[in-house]
Amino acid sequence: MKCALIRPDGTVLHAERHPTDAGRGAEAVIGTILAVADGLAGKARADGLTPTALGIVVPGVVDEARGVAVWSANVGFRDVPLRELASARLGLPTALGHDVRAGGLAEARLGAGRDAGHVLFVAIGTGIAAAHVVAGSAATGAHGAAGELGHILVRAGGPVCGCGRPGCLEAIASASAIARRYTRLAAGPAEADAGHESAPTGRGRATVTAAEVAARAAAGEPLASQVWREAVAALADGLATGQALFDVETIVLGGGLAQAGAGLFDPLRSALRDRLTFHREPRLVPAALGDEAGCLGAALLALDQLETT
Ligand SMILES: [Zn+2]
Repeated sequence: MKCALIRPDGTVLHAERHPTDAGRGAEAVIGTILAVADGLAGKARADGLTPTALGIVVPGVVDEARGVAVWSANVGFRDVPLRELASARLGLPTALGHDVRAGGLAEARLGAGRDAGHVLFVAIGTGIAAAHVVAGSAATGAHGAAGELGHILVRAGGPVCGCGRPGCLEAIASASAIARRYTRLAAGPAEADAGHESAPTGRGRATVTAAEVAARAAAGEPLASQVWREAVAALADGLATGQALFDVETIVLGGGLAQAGAGLFDPLRSALRDRLTFHREPRLVPAALGDEAGCLGAALLALDQLETT
């Protein structure tokens, strides 16, 4: 859990990290969230500051309008009324949001998408998720599940995704998928024939990270180059679909994979350009806020809520 005290102008005054330790179960995680938030408000007061609002963002499906964490595979949330629990505990106006949408909001308003009215933020890590931000506000969808770009079908009959369907974008182009595919192919043909590229379970053996695959591809290693090319092609398919749907000015790539730099952005820009017909080519840029984006986005949601109440 990344937590911070943030001024209305976006200045981070103080930051803390705490282990989520999801294995303890949802109740324990909720207890930690509330205790940490309470502690931060107390620290602010002790420092002579006045906490005015609280923002919390979590992964999974989040109903922002009702303030409910509907579903999260990682932390086991099922219909947790987190906004109400937090505002009751701290006595502060509270906003509840989604982690990737909040990160996208921060990148669009304060980071790499600043000054672009229409932004698609795409976070590529263990999965792939996106936020479509228009005029400083991220679309949530009717059920709190907008932006699941990772589950666009890009390779019918391809590797099985964590959601259960074969061929989703994140089963081919997430950092985890790249690492898994390279490791499996590098193990040799017998292993490769035996394995399903099943995303959620994987295999127990040590994997090469996606960053290492990127470095090996840049150095010209044939297998790494093949895996990287396939991932870039799948990503370009996904982003082209995103651009067809949203027609944005700027696509901001975040998450671990975006740190691959020119080795990712150069071939991806070119592959995306090849796939666009009448749609305008978006600017494709790396995220600027790093792993502070989620915290800043949570603060923006809290401030937005203050303005509307
Ligand atoms: Zn999927």
